Formats: sequence, structure tokens, C-alpha cells
Amino acid sequence: MTERQQELVEAAEQAYHRRLRKIIEAKPADLVDRLRVAMAEQGLLGLNMPEAYGGQGLPLLDTLLVIQRLQACDSALGALAHRTSTGAVGAIAVLGTEEQKKKYVAGVCEGRIGISIGITEPEAGSAATAMKTRARIDGDSVVIDGKKQFVSFVDHTHYTVVYCRFGTTGKASDIGAVIVPHDTPGFSRSKGTMNMADELLFELYFDNCRVPRENVLIDGNAFGRLISVYNAERLGSISRMLGSAQASFEHAVEYTRTRRQFGQEIADFQGVQWMLADMKVKLEAAQLLTYRAAANAGASGLPVAVETSMAKAYTAIAAKEICDDALQLHGANGYTREYPLAHRYAEVRGGSIYGGTVQIHKNMIAAAILQRKNNQWKRNDS
Ligand SMILES: Cc1cc2nc3c(=O)[nH]c(=O)nc-3n(C[C@H](O)[C@H](O)[C@H](O)COP(=O)(O)OP(=O)(O)OC[C@H]3O[C@@H](n4cnc5c(N)ncnc54)[C@H](O)[C@@H]3O)c2cc1C
Repeated sequence: MTERQQELVEAAEQAYHRRLRKIIEAKPADLVDRLRVAMAEQGLLGLNMPEAYGGQGLPLLDTLLVIQRLQACDSALGALAHRTSTGAVGAIAVLGTEEQKKKYVAGVCEGRIGISIGITEPEAGSAATAMKTRARIDGDSVVIDGKKQFVSFVDHTHYTVVYCRFGTTGKASDIGAVIVPHDTPGFSRSKGTMNMADELLFELYFDNCRVPRENVLIDGNAFGRLISVYNAERLGSISRMLGSAQASFEHAVEYTRTRRQFGQEIADFQGVQWMLADMKVKLEAAQLLTYRAAANAGASGLPVAVETSMAKAYTAIAAKEICDDALQLHGANGYTREYPLAHRYAEVRGGSIYGGTVQIHKNMIAAAILQRKNNQWKRNDS
């Protein structure tokens, strides 16, 4: 890290110790809202968003370093730093109109609003381009019909950037996106399904959901552009995995130095030392792949797809293994809820699934190696 990056990361950690930790430990019912306001005051939201709209204007790499450190402090902080920087708001910052940026990007940076992203559907998971949710322009409105599922954080957001189909060709070129306010008639959501990491995932329903046309983010022939912005979102969520893995690793180092068995620290056993060494190598390798993808994004802030996929495919597995080994090194303590290891494992476990599964990213890497189009669709040769 440069001196400046070191300062940024240390300032984020100090904000946690000085102020944010107390809010988290008090466990208020409106924890996310309180954190959002407090983090906005500390300059920890909208890290890579343009300063013109209230963001911190950081390069993508610096943004990821701060997200990682905040995630290592507490997952609630990593979640908000990611969602307000590399989350759905990023699509608006890159693709939105001036009015949309003033309203949504500024609102997110000030801690007033939150935005989710709705891509996945019952029949369109990994095969995202099979989505059926339709958007139909009708005068000054756009009318949306369809359903999304597994959408995160909707209980804490006010809008969702909904990927939907503007045309009827059935091709990816039909796909665009609309910013849907959650108080729009015709929009509703499920109560949510709890995931392994104690976060709710929601189904979203659009039934003749009429939104002002000015809420169209991009109206078709845009899937490639949406995904190129989404790659920054992927790196943000990868940084959260790095933060959880880093915290687990640091816990494991500390614990092996204090826990004694057979008359000595368990850190004295070579079998334990080799586990720590493997964890360290995996953490560094995952960081290097992720930081390279971010550094190469340059001024556009849009990372190269294959570099993102390599960071994702490696980190998702490495973080899972690091957290699992850290839990193992804590013995039965690691398996209890008294220690943070089990929750850290649950946090990173989802990383092999969301944002494109590890297998889907390997498909993309292989396509780049073989210089083939990554087309997984069954061919109809008859
Ligand atoms: C914690 C979490 C948060 C999420 N948040 C959001 C969100 O905010 N918004 C949103 O839109 N979605 C979200 N999702 C959904 C996520 O994007 C999807 O779960 C993901 O794209 C996989 O789709 P699926 O679950 O339908 O699995 P499927 O596509 O049914 O895949 C099942 C299995 O088949 C494998 N598979 C499928 N196709 C191939 C292939 N061609 N080659 C090799 N293997 C293949 C997959 O790798 C996987 O192992 C979230 C998911 C999780 C777990």
C-alpha cells in the first residue's frame, strides 16, 4: 500500500474503534440506518463515487482496500461500504443521466437512500440472459411486469435497479435496466428468506408497475455495458470476502499463540504452522489477483472481465478455505457462536454463488484462454 492508502485504511479502522463499534454493540433495531448516517459523516460511503455527487472520488483499488478493512472490522460495515460504492449505485454513476446522478448517487453518498440490484429470476440464475421481466414504454411511463428472486438488502433500500427486457427478440440485446422506487404501486416484495449468513434474500414482484420514464437507466442493447459496470460490483463483494478471510486469519494466529495443549502453544506444532502458512499464501494470492484487477481498471473504474473472473474464482475458494481452517484451529470454540469464525465462514460461503458462481467465472476464464465466445446455451442441432 502507498502511504495514502495506508492512511485511508487506518482512518477507516479508527472510525470503527472510535464511533461505529459502539453503535454495532448497542444492537439497535435500526442498526443499518444508524450506521449509514454515521458512516456518511465519516466519509465512508460512496468511496469511489465522483466528488461532484458527494462521493469520495477514490480510485477503485483504494475503495477495495477500505471495504476490505471495514469488512474485517465488522460485516455490517463492509456491506454498507460496498453497497454504497461498488454496489448498484455504480451503474447509475456510469450509465445514468445527470438528473439520476444528482438524485440517486448523491442520496446514497449522503446516507439518505439505499439501492438494491435485481437481476436473478426463477428461470434465470446463472443463465441471467434468460430473464423474462418485461419493461414496456407507455408514453411518459415505463411499465414493468415480472419477478426477481434472491435480491439482497431490500429491507434496507428504497430503490432497486431492475434488469429487464425492453424488446421481444429473446436475445441479450433486449436487456436494459430501470430504477424502481419501492413505494411504486404494482411493486411488492416477499418477507424474505434467511440465508446462512443471517441476511434476508427477497423475491420482488412487478405487476403492471408503472414508473416514470425518466427512471429508465438504459433501455435495451445494454447487457454488455451493465455487466462491465457489474464487474466493479463483483470486485467490491470480493473485497468483503477478503476482509472476512483476513479477520479469520488474524484470529487464528492470535488463538494458536494462546491456546496450549501437550504443554505448549498449539502454534508450536508444525502441523499448525503449515496451516497458517497455507492460509497466508492464499490470502496474499487472492489479494494480489483482486488488487491487480482493480488497479488495471484505471480511470474508468471498470475492470477487465477476465481479471475480475480470475479474482473471483480464486478468492471465493481461498476465502472459504481460510475461514474453514481458522475455524478448525479454534477447535470446538470455533464451531460455537461465541466466536466469530462460524459467521465468517457463512459470510464467505455465499461468495461462491452470488455475482456469478465460481463455475460460471471459470467458464469465462476458459473462453478467454481458448479465445472462444462463452456461450453455454444448448445448441439445437436438429
Ligand atoms: C448471498 C446471495 C446474495 C445474492 N444477492 C443477489 C442480488 O442482490 N440480486 C440478484 O439479482 N441476485 C442475487 N443473488 C442471486 C445469485 O446471483 C444467483 O444465486 C446466482 O447467479 C446463481 O443462480 P442460481 O442460484 O439460480 O443457481 P443455478 O444457476 O441454478 O446454478 C446451480 C448450479 O449449477 C451450476 N451451473 C449452472 N450453469 C452452469 C454452467 N454453464 N457451467 C457450469 N456450472 C453451471 C452453478 O455453478 C451452480 O453450482 C444472490 C445470491 C446469494 C447466494
